[in-house]
Amino acid sequence: MNVLVLGPQGAGKGTQAARIAVDFEIPHVSTGDMFRAAIAAGTALGRRVEPILSAGELVPDALTVELIRERLAEPDAGAGFVLDGFPRTLSQADALDEMLDQIDRSLDMVLFFDLPDDVAIERLAGRAAEEGRADDEPEAIARRLAIYHEQTEPVVEHYRATGLLVPLHAERTVDEVYAEISDAIAQLEARHA
Ligand code: AMP
Repeated sequence: MNVLVLGPQGAGKGTQAARIAVDFEIPHVSTGDMFRAAIAAGTALGRRVEPILSAGELVPDALTVELIRERLAEPDAGAGFVLDGFPRTLSQADALDEMLDQIDRSLDMVLFFDLPDDVAIERLAGRAAEEGRADDEPEAIARRLAIYHEQTEPVVEHYRATGLLVPLHAERTVDEVYAEISDAIAQLEARHA
């Protein structure tokens, strides 16, 4: 199963993606986590992206696309993947479509976590207090949401047009949202049965 999770920061994508990954035994591929791991390990990639993440800006497409291309080629992604945080721009979405085409694979479902800005801001401020993420500071939060509206919302429309988009009520509790996701996956499996 090849799944993509889309939506603003603070919508609970990471939490739900991790849960899907465990239940379906497929890797949770999060570009944000990969960048943060590179920063923590002090690699060349980490040093390059550290200031970009702190400011809440986007890492250049070419770098991000290459990271995903390599990650999806790893053996554990053979059975499927939950992609979280990518694609964030239309150019990344085009690159993903092309990449999947080349390996004769396609997306099964795009889960869209719909959440109003005020709720996203409130949740991210709470996470900043708990986890101390540099990009959860107020200025970076505002920048990330602005970028989401400008660059990632067109990606939502791109997938809406493919008929793969499954809108979720991301304001609900983690368990309620997961129940919606489980229903959507069951429907998908019934169609493929
Ligand atoms: P996230 O954990 O998904 O919110 O990602 C944290 C940060 O990593 C983002 O604010 C960006 O700086 C960077 N990042 C993650 N995914 C991407 C992507 N697909 N394209 C560009 N930058 C990204």
